[in-house]
Amino acid sequence: MKILVLNSGSSSLKFQLFALDSLATQNLQLLASGLVEKIAEAQGAIQLDYLNAQQQLEHFSQASVIANHQQALEVMTQLLKSKHCLESMQDLAGIGHRVVHGGEHFTQATLIDAQVIDTIDKLSPLAPLHNPANLTGIALAQQKAPKVPQVAVFDTSFHQTLAKSAYIYALPYALYEKHQVRRYGFHGTSHHYVAKQASAYLTQRNAQDAKLITVHLGNGASICAILNGQSIDTSMGMTPLEGLVMGTRCGDIDPAILLYLNRETGMSFAELDTLVNKKSGLKGVCGTNDMRSIIERAEQGDPQAELAIHIFAYRIKKYMGAYFAALNGLDAVIFTGGIGEHSSVIRALVCQDLDALGIQVDTEKNNSTSKESLEIQSEHSAVKVLVIPTNEELEIAEQTLAVIS
Ligand code: ADP
Repeated sequence: MKILVLNSGSSSLKFQLFALDSLATQNLQLLASGLVEKIAEAQGAIQLDYLNAQQQLEHFSQASVIANHQQALEVMTQLLKSKHCLESMQDLAGIGHRVVHGGEHFTQATLIDAQVIDTIDKLSPLAPLHNPANLTGIALAQQKAPKVPQVAVFDTSFHQTLAKSAYIYALPYALYEKHQVRRYGFHGTSHHYVAKQASAYLTQRNAQDAKLITVHLGNGASICAILNGQSIDTSMGMTPLEGLVMGTRCGDIDPAILLYLNRETGMSFAELDTLVNKKSGLKGVCGTNDMRSIIERAEQGDPQAELAIHIFAYRIKKYMGAYFAALNGLDAVIFTGGIGEHSSVIRALVCQDLDALGIQVDTEKNNSTSKESLEIQSEHSAVKVLVIPTNEELEIAEQTLAVIS
């Protein structure tokens, strides 16, 4: 039996294919992982990593013009067939779709029917770039495999456990009632996945797992306070713009800056939108959003790169203090995402001088690339500091499996 995970974006289609013995299993094996990108652009590209008949990992890539999402799905199915990963979409046990915004409606992964599609569509004003693209993927997959159950897994649903005091902004309350203005939070699949991994790991070691802070640092970045497995606060807000400093997003700023710029420079709201979402964050401060190269530049003494890193780390540290207070204590901090998993420099900076909160990182463990231990805290640290690779597609596959079984 096989489960396909689809992440349909505005110009890309990402997919992963998992095998399982039966619907009762918890054991999903990754068979193939791929990407069709630059859809409807002059030059598209296809990539696939897959297990061949000898169970060895092989890589395939090809440049190709991809006219639209329908062709992207066609290319994906043909490719999976030619590599003997999947005979036909009809053979799947289920398809899990990443859907960015589930609003207040979806508190968990949900079997897709006409009503669910209609609700996701109605939520599109909250995520105008993402939900329509997600719906395109759903519609095409339904056409290709009408009998296969399909499940929507939402980025927002893990955060639906926030208390009202954490999700209502101090704006006129009618804006919440009439226009759904509130904190939703995103990256829920990732925060949920690493929190479960951390809890399982800590329970094995008879440690407590009640109070966790998960720190997802990729191109997008967010942080989450988790009490007894439930999200109680998170840094992204009504949109993914709020909170931490990100690759190209500014995160928290004084909202009056936008009014000021509009007034003083005549920048339009569309230009301000681009400014805060695409030209700010690490890129705004030092010209690039690639943390690896920023760290290299900082090590060579580039002051702007160094400043970008310090702003980035300081914002995370401030949130850790805030969430320590929200949780009234802390058992473990979990770093994940490309930067969280790979950058010892950032982890060290974030955790520097946090011993008052019981957080102390061991330099050697933090710098070690060994996969033997997830733990990087020093022996005197009251709080465990863990590095756990995220796996959003596996989490979507597991939630899909839970719904269809
Ligand atoms: P996305 O949010 O697009 O999935 P990722 O989670 O892959 O992004 O994270 C991308 C970021 O991780 C980039 O800024 C990249 O430079 C950074 N990164 C990856 N490896 C390293 C590393 N070894 N050191 C520092 N940063 C890294």
